[in-house]
Formats: sequence, structure tokens, C-alpha cells
Amino acid sequence: MTAIRIPGTDDDLRRALDDVNLPTLLLVLTQLSGDARWMGERYRPAPIVAPEGSLFPDDSGGYDEEIAAEIRAGAFDLLRQVRDEGGELPPAPTLAGMRRMMAFSTAEPVEDEFCAMLLEETHFVDRDEDWFAALQQAVARRDEDDFRVLVVGAGPAGICAGIKLAKAGVSYRIVEKNDSVGGTWYENSYPDCGVDTPNHFYSYSFDRNPNWSGYFSKRDELYAYFDACVDKFGIRDAIELESEVRAMRYDADTRLWSVDVRRADGGVETLEANVVISAVGQLNRPNIPEFEGLESFEGTSFHSARWRHDVDLEGRRVAVVGTGCSAVQLLPKTAAKAAHTFVFQRSPHWVLPNENYYRPVEAGLVWALNHIPFYAEFHRARMIFGFMDRNWPAVPLDPAWEHTDRAMNEISDGMRAALTEYIREQLGERQDLLEKCVPQFPVLAKRPIIDNEWYPTVARDDVDLVTEEIVAVRPNGIETSDGMVHEVDAIIFATGFRSNLFLWPMEVVGRSGTTLGERWGDYPRAYKGMLVPDYPNLFCLYGPNTNIVHGGSILYTIECQVHYVMQCLALMLGRDAQALEIPEQINDAYNDEVQEISKDLAWGHPNVHSWYKNSDGRVVNNSPFSNLEYWSRTHDVEPNRYRMS
Ligand code: NAP
Repeated sequence: MTAIRIPGTDDDLRRALDDVNLPTLLLVLTQLSGDARWMGERYRPAPIVAPEGSLFPDDSGGYDEEIAAEIRAGAFDLLRQVRDEGGELPPAPTLAGMRRMMAFSTAEPVEDEFCAMLLEETHFVDRDEDWFAALQQAVARRDEDDFRVLVVGAGPAGICAGIKLAKAGVSYRIVEKNDSVGGTWYENSYPDCGVDTPNHFYSYSFDRNPNWSGYFSKRDELYAYFDACVDKFGIRDAIELESEVRAMRYDADTRLWSVDVRRADGGVETLEANVVISAVGQLNRPNIPEFEGLESFEGTSFHSARWRHDVDLEGRRVAVVGTGCSAVQLLPKTAAKAAHTFVFQRSPHWVLPNENYYRPVEAGLVWALNHIPFYAEFHRARMIFGFMDRNWPAVPLDPAWEHTDRAMNEISDGMRAALTEYIREQLGERQDLLEKCVPQFPVLAKRPIIDNEWYPTVARDDVDLVTEEIVAVRPNGIETSDGMVHEVDAIIFATGFRSNLFLWPMEVVGRSGTTLGERWGDYPRAYKGMLVPDYPNLFCLYGPNTNIVHGGSILYTIECQVHYVMQCLALMLGRDAQALEIPEQINDAYNDEVQEISKDLAWGHPNVHSWYKNSDGRVVNNSPFSNLEYWSRTHDVEPNRYRMS
């Protein structure tokens, strides 16, 4: 049993109770007191609704003042008593208990599977128990140097893998090409760079940060979080910075990977490892289009992920090429500085209204997340309920739906209508821009962008939205298909990443001598996005068909994958095998299913051109599953599916 310790004064408690969410507080009361009254009819919350203009659903419960005061008073009395008299922390909820509580506080039916996932995501249940003991014992039976894992990349995925490997006592190293950890949150530092998933979900389940300053934090805070995790979990010493993997080869005789790593001094060292975990991400090799004449440009040009902080844009004429998430985030601050900005749009994206994008986390809520027992767990659970798969029904094609040119189904069409209206409102007097701003493809065919003053910015007098195709870059600017040369001093390429080339530019040579590039060509595919036939003991995190579009947190996906990989290691070592490989036919069947599903999802729609698709239109980046289904499919290792030797 764990003793409960609640610090602070009565006023601290009162202030916290003013800022917390009441349906969440009711779960705390129920869990702490065991008193069923708090889930009685009197306190049943109103259903959750999403008010216009807010990404946050209104989940306040809709109580009148009298009932709200009653709940707060009940919580105050109980928490003060526990604070003053002490008490033991009751056990975590059971699956049935979690289901009852979630159904009550969301006023919607919830499934067992969803609640089983929530128990892990809230860390009420430690999912590591599925592999920890088996792996630890298997590792302990071997000599220390007999089994080594090499992780490639120290971004959010590599850090997560390192933390779990360290926990199990596996001998591992992490090599990172940059001079710092943090991956995407290190590399991207453009103005207003931030996350588009609420932070109380966008954080590891095993290290929820109760102190996020905003609901959607900015780059510096995100970078600091991941950097702090490296120390908190003691993996810094295992990370070798400025160490870029150039090539790796699998030796079928020794069943080892030989990995060529280029060090900071330019020298190449070859490391050997039994297992390689690729954690290189999908979005870190900048894509700069090969425009004719690009090299002749006499101004400054750079990619959004390589922001030139030494270049002062004040009073300059600036081109922003691209209208994806990065462009939307960086445009308002850039346009505010520049004398004139040209935004080059190939296709418009759907942009979601969000009044809460800059909302700071209330001081009382921070206190509650830190000090009120169970509050942080239930807060995260309800955040996941609201942001994970809630938009999924708008994604699959309804076979009976007639307007397939514009939407996937009726829900998707309703979203189109609401968002079109939003664009209309936002453009104010510039209704002439409406046609340019409404996408041809269904909502969720691309990850929707959270609004960042995009429309008012493109409507500014000193901003031009250029939709003619770029045909060339000239020494003094950008030429478009109408023959105009838009004269600029600087070009910012917010043109995304070479995301279809998974693991590129590493040369990865498999058992039979084929490189991954040769094997995949334009159609990268892996079993559950992680394992590839002919490449034993190689695990890819955030590999093919694992990106998420409709909602969710990529850290959730990463944790699902690391959980699966750790089970594979426990299985392999437990059987004294040296190699684990997925057979071709199992991988093929899996990927046939992925493609079969994907073509009828929003991001497979023929009107959409995106980084998710390869040259023949197949979706190779996105997961075809809801987040819950991916959790389920990666939750338990399948011993009979692999070839082990
Ligand atoms: P992106 O979504 O791939 O957008 C690239 C933009 O550049 C698109 O508008 C694209 O046009 C345009 N483009 C590419 N090649 C072009 C060419 N040859 N000529 C003209 N335009 C061209 O890249 P991103 O904005 O960097 O975002 C990448 C991903 O990173 C996002 O999808 C998201 O998953 C993630 N991200 C998230 C956030 C966040 O909010 N947390 C922020 C940034 C990035 P088309 O649309 O016509 O293809």
C-alpha cells in the first residue's frame, strides 16, 4: 500500500477545485472514497458536445451551480481529511470498474477493449509486465556482451526504446546523427513550432508531465521534456551523438548486424549488434523541390526544419512555399515581420478552428495534476476519449454514399460543410479567396491543421496567396505559370519531407544481400509497420503504414510498437534463438489487408495528393486502423508467426 500525501493549504485546494473538470473529479471521489454516491443519478453528467470554434469538447458535465458546489464541497472535505489525517492509496481500478467509471463520466457507452487500453495509457496498469520478467530473466542467463541492441535515433521513439531496454537490463546503445537528442523537436525551431495533439496525451504514458504550461505546447517545452526524460530514466550515457548510421548488413552466419557509423570526426566505425531498432522517424529528411534555376537564386533560401535564425526577415520580401502544418504554423509570425509575403499554395488544406490553441493550463489544474490522487490518470483517460478516435467515423467510405467526390460519408460531409463555413467567416472581406481556400478532397484526407490565424494572415494586404504553379526560381524571385516573377529576398521551403523513403539514406542490406531500398522500391511495407522479411532482428519504429491522421498521439503509436518489440526480444531470448524473422507470406497477407482497407479511407481518396501516397497512389505512410485497433494488433506477440533460429 502507498501512503497518500497531499500538500498545500485549504486555499490551494479550493483554487485547484475551481479549475478542475467536475466529471473527472467525480471519478477521483469514487476511486478515493469508494462511495458509490458520486456516480449516482444526481451527478450524472450531460453528454459531451463539441462547441463550434473549439477543438476541446465541452465535457464540463453541464451541472447547475448547486450540484457543482456540492461536488466541489465533497471533494474539498475528502481531500482535506486525507491531507490532514493521511490514508492509503486504494488500488487501481479494475477493468470493469474503469468501464463503469468511463461510461458514467463520458455519458457514452465504452467498450472493454478501450478501457483495457486506457488502464495502460494511464499507467494504472504497467504494460511492461507483459515482457519485463521474461526478458530480464533471459538477459540474466547470458553473458553481458552476448546480446546487444543498437537503437538508431534519439528522438521520441529512440528515447522510449532506450528507456525500456535499460529497464530490462539489456545491453544497448543509441546512435544519433544530431548533436542533441530530441529528434523532430530538436530539428524544428521555426516560429510558433508546436504540437497539434494535446500534451496531456502527447507525453509518454509512463512519464506524464503534470506541468505542461499549455494544452498545446511549443517546441522548446517539448524538446525540454524529451531531454529531461533522457536523464530521468538514466539513458544519457548510452547515447552517442553526432553518430550517423550510413549502412548496415545482416550476416546470416553470425546472425549479427554490422552497422557503419560515421562519427563527428568523419571517421567510420563498424559496430556489431544482435538487434537493430530503427527509430529514425518519417519526417526528418527535408524535401526541397528541384525547381529549375533554384541554384541561381541570389537571396537566402532554407527549409522550415532548418530554420536560419541568423537571417533577419524584418522588412524583407519573403516567399513561403507550401501550405502544410509547418507553413501554417510559421506564416503568421513570418508575415508580421516581412515587408511582403507570397504564399505559394499547390493545394489548400483543411484547417480546424481552435479557440483553445494558445490556452495556458490553469494554475489550479496544474496543482490538481500534481497533487490530487488519481486526477492525472482520469484527466488523461478523458483526454484520450476526446482526442484519439473520435473522428474515426468520418474516415471510411460509406458504400451507399453518393457524393464521393467531396466526402467519405455523411459525417465527413457535415465536417466539410462546417469547415467551409468557418473559412468563409475567417476570410471576412476577402471572400474572393474562398475558392482558393476550400480543399477539393474530403476532410481527414490529410492531417487537419489546427488554426493559427491562417486565414486572417493570408487575407492581409501585405500577403499574396499565389496558386499558380511554380515553374522556376529566378535570381530575384519565383516565376509562376502565368509568367509572373514574384520578387523576393528569401524563400522558405515548408515543403515537407522525403517521407516515403523509410530508413533512407541508410543502406540496409538483408540476409540475402538485397538492400531495403531495392526490396521496397516505391512500395515500402512491413509487418505491423515494424518487421520486414529477409531482415531478421530489425525492428522499425514509426515505419510504413503507422502514421496517424484522424487523431491520436504518435507517442501512443510508438509505445504500442516498443511494447511489441520488447515482447519479440523476450520471446526470442526465452527460446534461446539468435534470430527472429517474419515470413514473406505473413507480411504479404498483412500488407494486402492494409492496402485493401486504405483505398477506401479518406487518405486514399483519388482527389488527394499527399506525402502519404507513393507514385502509384498507394498509401504507404498511414495506418489503416483506428488507434485502438492498432493497440490491439500490437498488444500481444504472436509466437507462431515468426521464423526463429
Ligand atoms: P507537408 O504536410 O508535406 O506540406 C508540404 C507542403 O508543401 C504542402 O502544402 C505541399 O503541397 C507543398 N509542396 C511540396 N512540394 C511542392 C512543390 N513542388 N511545389 C509546391 N508546393 C509543394 O509538410 P509539413 O507542413 O512540414 O508537415 C509534415 C507533417 O509533419 C505533417 O503532415 C504533420 O504530420 C507533421 N507536422 C505537424 C505539426 C504540428 O502541428 N504539430 C507541425 C508541422 C508538421 P501539397 O499539399 O499540394 O502536397
